[in-house]
Amino acid sequence: MNARDHSQPLPSDQAKALAAFATRSWDEEIVPALTRYVAIPAKSPMFDANWERNGYIERVITDAAAWVEGKKLPGLKLEVVRLAGRTPLIFFEVPATRPGGNDAKAPTICLYGHLDKQPEFNGWRTDLGPWTPKYENGKLYGRGSADDGYAVYAALTAIMALDKQGIPRPRCVGIIEGCEESGSPDLPAYLELLKPRMGDVALVVCLDSGAGNYDQLWLTTNLRGLVSGVLNVEILTEGIHSGDASGLVPSSFRILRHLLERLEDSKTGRLLPESFHCTIPANRLEQARATAAILGDEVWKRFPWACGADGGPTLPTTTDRVEALLNRTWRPALSVTGVEGFPDLGSAGNVLRPYTAFKLSLRLPPLVDGAEAALALKTLLEDNAPYNARVTFRPDGRAGAAAGTPSGATGWNAPQLAPWLENVLEAASQAHYGAPLGYMGQGWHHSAHEHAAEGISAVADDGLRRAWPAQQRARSERIPARALRQAADCGGGAGDGGLPVGGRAARQATSCCARRRRRGRDACRGRSRPCAARSRN
Ligand SMILES: [Zn+2]
Repeated sequence: MNARDHSQPLPSDQAKALAAFATRSWDEEIVPALTRYVAIPAKSPMFDANWERNGYIERVITDAAAWVEGKKLPGLKLEVVRLAGRTPLIFFEVPATRPGGNDAKAPTICLYGHLDKQPEFNGWRTDLGPWTPKYENGKLYGRGSADDGYAVYAALTAIMALDKQGIPRPRCVGIIEGCEESGSPDLPAYLELLKPRMGDVALVVCLDSGAGNYDQLWLTTNLRGLVSGVLNVEILTEGIHSGDASGLVPSSFRILRHLLERLEDSKTGRLLPESFHCTIPANRLEQARATAAILGDEVWKRFPWACGADGGPTLPTTTDRVEALLNRTWRPALSVTGVEGFPDLGSAGNVLRPYTAFKLSLRLPPLVDGAEAALALKTLLEDNAPYNARVTFRPDGRAGAAAGTPSGATGWNAPQLAPWLENVLEAASQAHYGAPLGYMGQGWHHSAHEHAAEGISAVADDGLRRAWPAQQRARSERIPARALRQAADCGGGAGDGGLPVGGRAARQATSCCARRRRRGRDACRGRSRPCAARSRN
């Protein structure tokens, strides 16, 4: 194999051959594997207390491991690593094919993904479901295929594509974990264990992020942090007749509302404590402007807006494209993601309920310290409880936090991109898409980034801190095959990043307006395209 200048794009015949290989692998081998994967309810431990006994995580890990081993890559070593009481993890190593690539100090590329899944959620289209895979119009519907089942297959296929064309590459290792959706509590222990086998990691490719579209290569530049936990307000020991007690016994819901007013301006959604905000770096502002110009109104139109009060679509917090991007990546925001203490509507009688509990999800800007924010949030909510109500806020446990201490996840802002990396990514985007590299932040936290920056780099050189290009990730669990093939061409991999789904898929899917029309109700008026169907997670 000849040495070549890595900063230069591949000759077009080689690039075409790579694309053809990835396309064929995708259609013939990856889609069938992902279809089997979707059918397994491998919910992350946070959502399946009996995960160990149920054995679903074990199954998806061993299935993927068998697939990888079945490829018989020369020199590939794979181990399903198991620490007692922790989710299993796939670790694989593939020796370098370029001269000197297997020397002790030669750089290694680490590819990351996960196989545990988010819970079912509701709102699936009637003919779809989380564990019943269905392939339709080039998209695979079901839970987990895009977040993050595809990662292990994309990683291996990228390596195989290069090898097949005889294109020299560095040594590669893969880490596919089983508890990412629970905040990766097991990952640090495995990284510690695997340190000696990782090698000199110079680049980590995290196959678990998002993309702006499928028309160019995207790089994730920053992620928000997160404090999530349960806010509980208890006022009675049991429910009593509301006719008897309301007006005298304060409503636990009203108290909870009052507490949330300390946190958030309910008119605008702005988080009130200044400590939850940060200054947006100038380069990120500049990149947000460029991304807004690329994506146009899709930055906000891609969401499945309902038909609104006047028959037109419901509205976002802002239609300014740059502000829309910044709101979801550089500003704090509160969501209530679950409730307890309420009966279903069908069995809601005249009872003043004894308590109200909300699961809160507070997204934090990349530069705000998650642990400090968790403490501040706990104090803000618990101090000076109205009516001496029993108010508790329990943040979820996070990796590395001592038991019982409030902990939050700190976001991530990529370090300055190394010039060589910027050049090769730009060259790859131009070669495969004919369009420049796009930069965007993502709204969600990914604990693997923390570990990459802190854990792995303890054994790697500084290169890791310079470079963590996250590839495209799926939010909505439908994979457009074409897009994935394209991304795989770049030696990375892609999930369904959301934006193209909001565009292409939404246009294909039955719109809520259309459904309403069939029911004889007012259709949305004056919109550029129909409401997206509410059929996904
Ligand atoms: Zn993921």
